Amino acid sequence: MTDLATALTGAAARGELFAHFQPQLDPETDRIVGAEALARWDHPGLGLVPPLDFITVAEQTGLIDEVGEAMVELGCAFAARIAGSGIQVAINVSALQLADATFADRFAAIAERHGVPLGELTVEITESHPVDAVPGAVEQLVRLRDGGAGIALDDFGTGYSSFKQLESLPFTELKMDQSLIRDDTDETWNRVGTLVVLARHRGMRIVAEGIETLEQYERVRAAGCDRAQGYFLGMPMPADEFVQFAAARVRTPLPRVAAPARRALAAAGIRALEDLATWTRRDLLALPGIGARTADRLIGR
Ligand code: C2E
Ligand code: MG
Ligand code: MG
Repeated sequence: MTDLATALTGAAARGELFAHFQPQLDPETDRIVGAEALARWDHPGLGLVPPLDFITVAEQTGLIDEVGEAMVELGCAFAARIAGSGIQVAINVSALQLADATFADRFAAIAERHGVPLGELTVEITESHPVDAVPGAVEQLVRLRDGGAGIALDDFGTGYSSFKQLESLPFTELKMDQSLIRDDTDETWNRVGTLVVLARHRGMRIVAEGIETLEQYERVRAAGCDRAQGYFLGMPMPADEFVQFAAARVRTPLPRVAAPARRALAAAGIRALEDLATWTRRDLLALPGIGARTADRLIGR
């Protein structure tokens, strides 16, 4: 075992693992509709270890079952805390955890103990290992899905994820990889559009992650994505902070079109006299002289 693996052994039991939660918004309404639970490990000697480092080690050593179960516990506790808010909690699960024939039952039992219906949870399958190569994985996912949980294919467009997986596995949600959003070219946005059509066709929800700018958010909205997640919309944060963040967001809506609108107006020789920061697309469309064509430019790039 490596030093990191030794240190990780028993980390859950020692209370060194915790979760940060990152908001997911409905781009049509700007409302928070989801929260992704992201694992954090604070080792007394090593400090905060990056998730990709310790998750990889956990997957290599079999510690992933222990770490994964702790995350289900933390995710369900949070879901119970925010019950009634309409916010679904997404829990990351490594495909390797699905090799355990009791996975779905244990997941459901933890949710039940916290009084959380499976319909308020999404299982996000991270693509570090191909799901269809794990014996019995499909059965575990089908059981959770039939119980009402969402099943998301994470980081679609990288790793082992392929269209074939979408056809043969019980996914209800497609989570586009951040690299798609980051690669801001017309070709990529066309691909995003194609993915949205594909997801629609299959009755799947489509989520865009890695949204770092207002422009990206506007494009994701225009493409018809169901959910958006990224630093621009909210950082991963401790549970207490998330609760405050969600409450504050209800009071102060997200700035919608300010920056692109100001630029488009300036390009048209119009000086924005008012602070546009709190304006919505609907407000702008209601302005005399701002028609659909202009509005397209306003909300475009
Ligand atoms: P992921 O599931 O795709 O999670 C999204 C990652 O992107 C998170 O990194 C998040 O902090 C980061 N992120 C969110 N918004 C932005 C953005 O706007 N820009 C950029 N550049 N990054 C953004 P994090 O927390 O470091 O997690 C990394 C990966 O570790 C996760 O990717 C997931 O694959 C894995 N992971 C995290 N928690 C768990 C867990 O509980 N179980 C398993 N199996 N894997 C986990
Ligand atoms: Mg994820
Ligand atoms: Mg992802």
